[in-house]
Amino acid sequence: MKEDFLGRPLIWFKGKPTPSQEATVPVLSPTAQFGLNVFEGLRGYANESRQVFLFRLDDHLRRLMQSCQLIGIESPYSVDQITDAILNIIHANNMRGDLAVRVTLFVEGEGSWSSRDPVDMFVAPIYKPRNTLSESSGQTACISTWRRIDDTVLPPRIKAGANYINGRYAHLEAQANGANIPILLNLAGKVAEGAGACLMMVRDGILVTPPCTASILESITRDSLLTLAGETGLTTQERDIDRTELYLAEEVFLCGSSAELIPLTRIDRFSIGDGRPGPTTRLLSKLYFNSADGTASNHHTWLTPVWRETFE
Ligand code: PMP
Repeated sequence: MKEDFLGRPLIWFKGKPTPSQEATVPVLSPTAQFGLNVFEGLRGYANESRQVFLFRLDDHLRRLMQSCQLIGIESPYSVDQITDAILNIIHANNMRGDLAVRVTLFVEGEGSWSSRDPVDMFVAPIYKPRNTLSESSGQTACISTWRRIDDTVLPPRIKAGANYINGRYAHLEAQANGANIPILLNLAGKVAEGAGACLMMVRDGILVTPPCTASILESITRDSLLTLAGETGLTTQERDIDRTELYLAEEVFLCGSSAELIPLTRIDRFSIGDGRPGPTTRLLSKLYFNSADGTASNHHTWLTPVWRETFE
């Protein structure tokens, strides 16, 4: 891998591969001061031939453009140019393993949160191995007293930097209460999601997840898992979830590009199922990775190969 002098991969910054310590935004910029940015976090998964596939790149970039549209940031780059930048920086770093890529459109200048300052972009790849599940993969969660941001306040369906401060409050509280992860309810008191990942549960054998109108991010992993679950013959439901349903569920897990699948084996004072990652969570995790690294042949349209060799 090419790297800068701190041993980090180069970052695509304002048009070219750049050492991370040189990729900086001005302190007075709306991005630095107010968290005004939009971004995507996507994954690449490597197969045994060290080909890397970016997972659902087009969907991530579509959501990035929607984030721009809603928050009033004009991307100086087209979707094709952003795709080229992503491929360019992975090539420049010669990365051939599982990775994560952050694509961020940031606002420069010295304006306020309401001004229309110039927008530019960085693309930062890092190696990040997939987290395959084991018996001990379970995490503990607690229901946060903080509510998930609402469409009437700060739209949760886009990925804007400032949205994540909501998750920060919830995380601080969860950790102070001795849990690993918070679960946020929405303003209606129904389950929304984790801080940075969507939530699914198995109840009476049905895979249930809150709808896109429940103050959640319109998660690409959530959509992928609903598709994969449907293909295995599992019944799936997108409906509101009550807090107490989580306590009674057979399985609960979080899902997201970064989280992948995280089984929640304890929520508040309740053990979930038998306190270990459940069979549906484990099955879906396997199906997810098989589709993401191209092992399964039926979802190749989700994958963008990074290196020249493609599917036969
Ligand atoms: N909710 C939030 C708040 C997130 O930041 C993420 C991660 N992008 C998710 C859910 C999961 O979304 P996705 O599956 O598209 O990564």
